[in-house]
Amino acid sequence: MATLSTNIQYLKGVGEKRARLYARLGIATIGDLLEHYPRDYIDFSHPSSITSAPYDEPCAIRARVAAKSAEQRIRKGLSLFKVLVTDGRNDLMITFFNAKYAVASLKEEETYLFYGRVSGRIGRREMASPLVFPDDPALALSPVYPLTEGLSSKMIAANVRQALVLAEDLDQDLLPATVREENNLCRRREALEAIHFPPNEKALARARRRLMFEELFHLNLALGQVKRASQKEAAAPMESGDMGGFFSLFPFDLTGAQQRAIDDCLKDLCRTVPMNRLLQGDVGSGKTMVAAACAYFAARNGYQTAMMAPTEILAVQHYQTWSKLFAGTGISVGLLTSSMGANAKRQIKEQLAGGQLSIVVGTHALLQDSVAFSRLGLAITDEQHRFGVSQRMALAQKAEKGRYPHVLVMSATPIPRTLAFIIYGDLDLSILDEMPKGRLPVKTYLIDPPKRERAYGFIRKHLDAGEQAYVVCPLVEQGENSPEGLESAVEESERLARDFFSGYKVGMLHGRMKAAEKEQIMKDFQSGELQLLVSTTVIEVGVDVPNATVMLIQNAERFGLSQLHQLRGRVGRGGTESFCILVSAQMDSPRLRAICQTNDGFRIAEEDLKLRGPGDFFGLRQHGLPMMKIAGLLENMTLVDQTRAAALSILKTDPDLLLPEHAELRKRTGQMLETVNA
Ligand code: ADP
Ligand code: MG
Repeated sequence: MATLSTNIQYLKGVGEKRARLYARLGIATIGDLLEHYPRDYIDFSHPSSITSAPYDEPCAIRARVAAKSAEQRIRKGLSLFKVLVTDGRNDLMITFFNAKYAVASLKEEETYLFYGRVSGRIGRREMASPLVFPDDPALALSPVYPLTEGLSSKMIAANVRQALVLAEDLDQDLLPATVREENNLCRRREALEAIHFPPNEKALARARRRLMFEELFHLNLALGQVKRASQKEAAAPMESGDMGGFFSLFPFDLTGAQQRAIDDCLKDLCRTVPMNRLLQGDVGSGKTMVAAACAYFAARNGYQTAMMAPTEILAVQHYQTWSKLFAGTGISVGLLTSSMGANAKRQIKEQLAGGQLSIVVGTHALLQDSVAFSRLGLAITDEQHRFGVSQRMALAQKAEKGRYPHVLVMSATPIPRTLAFIIYGDLDLSILDEMPKGRLPVKTYLIDPPKRERAYGFIRKHLDAGEQAYVVCPLVEQGENSPEGLESAVEESERLARDFFSGYKVGMLHGRMKAAEKEQIMKDFQSGELQLLVSTTVIEVGVDVPNATVMLIQNAERFGLSQLHQLRGRVGRGGTESFCILVSAQMDSPRLRAICQTNDGFRIAEEDLKLRGPGDFFGLRQHGLPMMKIAGLLENMTLVDQTRAAALSILKTDPDLLLPEHAELRKRTGQMLETVNA
């Protein structure tokens, strides 16, 4: 008797060897196999005729085998077979390589479906190495699976067929009947049958919707529980206080969006349930000020704030900005990173535990066990997309026993609304959708490498005008194994200082330098001591030097779209017109063209998604969430809303999923939470 949790080896034809191949795809049980969804389908429902077949695009052709040639040996290890097929009107010459057995199994006069690309002239059409299928009318859409070497879609399909018959608990649905009815969803069995072997497009769409719904529903249940867990614990309620002192600290007026975000946060801080808020805003929208306002408010209420940043450079920069900002307010700011000396670290930890320090800015080092606070009221994570959900929670767990601090996370990764909902579903959202006044969009140009010297001349002009610039390289240093043709920060900085920028002050920065060195370089660049900074992507997140107006990115094709957008966000931060020059030999790259056309982070994120395809799914893993098995939900905000509503209504009646009919749901969401917290 087999169930969904039965080992895959139970299936006929799956021995130890094939089980090992399945393991590579993350498949151990029959249930795993059934959730290994096809990544595509071959459409046999409308085979082309040989004359009307599209040129050089995969298509299916139904044809009869007219003649087979004998094996032709081209050279050692390569033999060729020709098979002439006909659809009754025209002929097609099919070539197979090293396919003795496949060709032998084709019977003359018999009809098959051939799937491949047609080439050749009209009247002499050809097809090379097609997939061959029996001419079976039930084969409307044939599944194409994500594969690993040694497994074919055919083998997987055969195993899936067996699994669908054998799994006895397949009728236990993972969605409560009421949810199914209210949302017009088919049963799980029906959906699984149709996702693997769809009789037609309509059945496939229905199956997809049902399975996407299920996955999102479970995720929403899990996230709903996370949120509940944090809301059970008491926060540090603060009292509304005068913020006038804070607003007089800087020379500019807050944007309307910053003002609204600060209002949202301060309201949250005054409640007895902990704040759990995501502050999302494109690069340069001024998230740090919102964080500072919250820290100020907490300090005035006698609570400590911890702010965690993903890189040392960024932590140091925040530390410096905030030390300056809060100087004279009586609010003390400290820094904690792992590269600090033991004495300095110990001192900061003592001051935190003793309550002498109001604000600490740091890296992951803040998560160490030895870090304790006397009155942690607010935990802030900057550039949240660089951290997992679990790290965000770990920082929050630093409050005194039984207390849960207010939590603010900030992210510049502009992600589509659907995804924000999914990833941050357990958070409230404030969006900075307004740039500080006077910001000019960064002008972005794509040039090919021969034009680089002119670009250097352009940079020199800006340095002469008292501005600063970055040159970003994909490599730290040329090594034996470096791919050819890539620029490195070490060599490039030497070359530029010698050839094109002699007489200018050129600095270099990369992740392998010692912390103290990095800090010194950043300081020198910030103070204007250095004019040109040659660096790797260490400056990608957060670095803020408003006087820098030009960025040149070498080998731009090496970077992702969102990454280029982040990098570009380092310029255009003051009121001066700024430029980003992408250097690449790939002048017709759609990605590089896209980034030249817009400064809108949300549009870039969407473009990134389209270009990377559904397979990658926007780094869901990086966000610390399980990879969704079914793509395509990104466009589907309605589905996200429906699943959320369904999950909330279940949690309302049974918050801990303790009812017997929710046992399976509890198990599933429990597994999801483990992944989230892993
Ligand atoms: P990000 O959202 O990318 O973290 P920052 O908080 O680093 O952006 O802010 C970018 C720059 O804009 C900083 O130099 C900051 O001092 C400045 N800034 C922030 N808010 C305003 C404002 N309201 N008006 C003018 N400049 C601002
Ligand atoms: Mg920032």
